[in-house]
Amino acid sequence: MRLSILLVEDNPADADLLMDSLTQDDGSSVWQVRHVERLSEALQALEQQPVDVVLLDLSLPDSQGLGSITRLQAVVPHLPIVMLTGRDDTQIAVQAVAQGAQDYLVKGQITTSLLTRALRYAIERTQNLKQLQASEHRFRAVFDQTFQFMVLLSTEGLVLEVNQALANVEGDRLQTLLHQSIWETVRWGYREVAQQWMKNAVAAAAQGQTVRDEIESCNPQGEVRWLDFSLKPLRNAANQVVLLIGESHDISDRKLIEAKTLETLEQERELTQLKADFVAMASHEFRTPLTIIRMAAELLEKYDDQLIAAKRTQHFERIHSAIDSMLRLLDEVLLLGKADSGGLHYEPFSFDLADYCQEVVETLQLTTNSNHRIIFDCSHKQIQGEMDQALIHHILTNLLSNAIKYSPDRSSVWLKLSCQPNQISFQVKDEGIGIPPQDQQHLFETFYRAKNVGKIQGTGLGLSIVKKCVELHQGQIHVESEVGIGTTFNVTLPRFLQQTRLEHSSLHESAQIDLINVQAGSN
Ligand code: ADP
Repeated sequence: MRLSILLVEDNPADADLLMDSLTQDDGSSVWQVRHVERLSEALQALEQQPVDVVLLDLSLPDSQGLGSITRLQAVVPHLPIVMLTGRDDTQIAVQAVAQGAQDYLVKGQITTSLLTRALRYAIERTQNLKQLQASEHRFRAVFDQTFQFMVLLSTEGLVLEVNQALANVEGDRLQTLLHQSIWETVRWGYREVAQQWMKNAVAAAAQGQTVRDEIESCNPQGEVRWLDFSLKPLRNAANQVVLLIGESHDISDRKLIEAKTLETLEQERELTQLKADFVAMASHEFRTPLTIIRMAAELLEKYDDQLIAAKRTQHFERIHSAIDSMLRLLDEVLLLGKADSGGLHYEPFSFDLADYCQEVVETLQLTTNSNHRIIFDCSHKQIQGEMDQALIHHILTNLLSNAIKYSPDRSSVWLKLSCQPNQISFQVKDEGIGIPPQDQQHLFETFYRAKNVGKIQGTGLGLSIVKKCVELHQGQIHVESEVGIGTTFNVTLPRFLQQTRLEHSSLHESAQIDLINVQAGSN
């Protein structure tokens, strides 16, 4: 099939010459040429019948220069056009090529082979361009339709293009993203660690590596979100890296689930550890008093008539003391279990704290088997407060018993009660063995005991109970301690119920436990 040409030329001599160049010696031609003299006629002809290529004179009676190309392309996009120019017009012809004409020929220098080649190349190039555009269109559709965020970077990390999914998310921020180094965009520049990660990723990808990681970036709402981000190098035919393709998707929800699962696993691990600790502790703590009871009971049974009264009393005392120690342990375990299952309730009522503390100190002084002096220090005769007396009892008896247990015989232990309009403070102080700094942060963990307890008996449960009671009051507990000098526990609690309730609603965190390591010399 012959290829069709539309020749737009107003100069009859030039037109004849061109027609001649397209005709072979025997008068035949591979071209089917249609000749018009004006642009308006050319437009009309194109509307009626498409052609394969247009030979267009640069200056026509009804159109001059580059405007002719624009008007022709408006009627037939992707129309192959070869410009015909005079010797002086080559500069405009070059512009015409830049604007979409396929080629130009200078009148007076046109040979048959030059013309034929220019026309064939023009047709071929236009077809290639069309195919390229169709292919680009298909790939653009994939690039834009994917749910993944995609970004094209230069090998230096400049953002060249982003796909629709990312553009939608970026919104107004999009303009600040393009043509910037990707690590300088707000998405990555918000935090140094993310910025550095991106710089390294670009450098590695530019060297031909594929980089993939889970990393946090900042979205336009200022939220930090987790992305599964990969950066891949794109190579040209010479195997050189010419572009980098960044691909990512938001995995924040998955991360959240992972974190929760890990938390649950950690809780389960802690629970298993707790059970193991409990079994170890219980077998030890119960075995010792049970052995004492068995031995005392055997002695009493076998040698009852031979024992003097004092010895018998001693054995009975041992049995009583062993039973007391087991009961105490059971009480502590039960209380903690109750607290953990939410069964330990906060039931405040109004009472005089000065009076109550005095009573606790006197009872402890009478019941403790030691020779410690417990000094109650309170500058008020009466301090009214609305608190849970049972919980206060656990706090005071545990702290005071510890102060006694961990300080030398005949030393003093202080309980200081002070108050402010909305707050009550208890301070329990001793001059005992103290607590090593590295142990202080773990004291309130169940079963935890400091390394310096030696042979002093204990379960590691008392302070866990104290902490829970303080938390139920929305209070705080601090410890100051120095090995060999002594320990002070400070507890502050809201004084009135109304206030506690307010704090219950405003505080999401449980009681804060600040541990202060006292430097040597200060107390
Ligand atoms: P325990 O039954 O072992 O005394 P607690 O939970 O009451 O358990 O205390 C935890 C640990 O804290 C103790 O084992 C001890 O190491 C340390 N401790 C608590 N109070 C004092 C104190 N007043 N002086 C020194 N160490 C203390």
